[in-house]
Amino acid sequence: MAIESFNPYTGRVERRFQAFSWAKTERILAQVAKEAITWRTTSFAHRAERMRRAGQLLRDRQNELAHMMAVEMGKPITDGRAEVLKCALTCDYYAEHAEEFLRDEPIKTQAQHSFIAYEPLGVVLAVMPWNFPFWQVVRFAAPALMAGNVGLLKHASNVPQCALALEQVFHDAGFPPATFRTLLIGSELVEKLIQDDRVKAVTLTGSEPAGAQVASTAGAQIKKTVLELGGSDAFVVLADADLELAAKTAAQARMINSGQSCIAAKRFIVEKPIAKEFISKMKTHLLAMRTGDPLDEATQFGPLARPDLADDLTRQVDESVAKGAKVDLHGGQSKPGTALFRPMIISNIKPSQPAYYEELFGPVAIIMEAKNEEDAIRLANDSRFGLGASIWTRDEKRGETLARRIEAGAVFVNSMVKSSPEMPFGGVKKSGYGRELSYLGIREFVNQKSIWVA
Ligand code: NDP
Repeated sequence: MAIESFNPYTGRVERRFQAFSWAKTERILAQVAKEAITWRTTSFAHRAERMRRAGQLLRDRQNELAHMMAVEMGKPITDGRAEVLKCALTCDYYAEHAEEFLRDEPIKTQAQHSFIAYEPLGVVLAVMPWNFPFWQVVRFAAPALMAGNVGLLKHASNVPQCALALEQVFHDAGFPPATFRTLLIGSELVEKLIQDDRVKAVTLTGSEPAGAQVASTAGAQIKKTVLELGGSDAFVVLADADLELAAKTAAQARMINSGQSCIAAKRFIVEKPIAKEFISKMKTHLLAMRTGDPLDEATQFGPLARPDLADDLTRQVDESVAKGAKVDLHGGQSKPGTALFRPMIISNIKPSQPAYYEELFGPVAIIMEAKNEEDAIRLANDSRFGLGASIWTRDEKRGETLARRIEAGAVFVNSMVKSSPEMPFGGVKKSGYGRELSYLGIREFVNQKSIWVA
């Protein structure tokens, strides 16, 4: 695959990059592996000063970086700015809390003195996707660098400018250049990198096949992995919910990043008596959303990031419709090979259709009618994925009880699923394993060492 910036709105190639050879990649690996030995000895205060500066640079550069995302993967400019600011917040969060999260933890045993020490692993490879080009990387890099690790980034091949801009932010913030490097490489060099002894661990956010491939290579090398893969999040609306608020939030939750988010709500499981009204309200909200040039301040959803992603989504919808799904809101691709995809609602979803079990990574809302609360939970859990879910009911206690019964890494009651630096983020089932963010995220890539003084 070419390493190029392709503007999905204009259909033009903005820039082409020469992919790094293995020799160049190996040279960079040697530099970061060397730096890892020094970086781990620096103090938290030293790292935090640089991380706060990185946060400030992200704030200063928000317009430029949002513009870059708009032209490179079609993200509306206002969403781009919000993404960059969230990254800045996460840099600040780990600058402030890393020391406390990784402080020696005394444990009462028969020893005179025993504790857990958290020590960096060294070089961590991050394989990242294009949908949140800055956020996906920062939520790995901020805790990793603060923990004393160094990072190698293999970003998605369609967002090279974002990948280089982020490397520049860390360098300008005063991190030694070899603590964080971007590799402009295709996925074929990833296996070789993982097999190299100098790479100690890997984190991947992306599709199930990419995750399985990376994890099996790392497994053969006995290396730690964190996988954040797809989701087909359930949005459960019970008959006692605030229907107007639920439908309005449903439309927003489905349309996060033009529908291309792992935690976008995808399956709307609605109790039968309110299903018709819910569809009608959701339709109104979806139709009110403005599409257009991602650089236009008024645009709420843009094109998908690449035309092939829109082609794939069309195939999933067409096959589902051929197998009995009903179209409640017509939309979709204007013609094959284009990236713009208008929102759709489909219902009458059956297990034989791709819409039932596959992830639909774009603005298609799937409506599933539930006979009652039990049936709603059954449908929510009848998925290969388990990333996030939300439940809508006026009875908060009931919402909390049901939240515990949903197989997912996160459940939100009367809110859409979102990530924040304080709360762990990750999935179960085919959505992956391990956690990012919070104190759990920073403890993924450390040696949790027991020290016992008899
Ligand atoms: P991929 O999973 O293919 O890409 C994600 C990252 O993994 C990219 O950096 C990619 O590199 C890399 N990669 C892909 N295959 C391998 C491999 N065999 N070994 C090592 N690295 C690999 O996502 P796509 O862009 O193809 O999107 C397809 C689907 O993936 C979406 O429709 C969606 O379902 C899911 N997805 C989920 C995301 C999430 O947030 N969980 C984000 C993006 C996609 P390269 O770009 O060079 O191929």
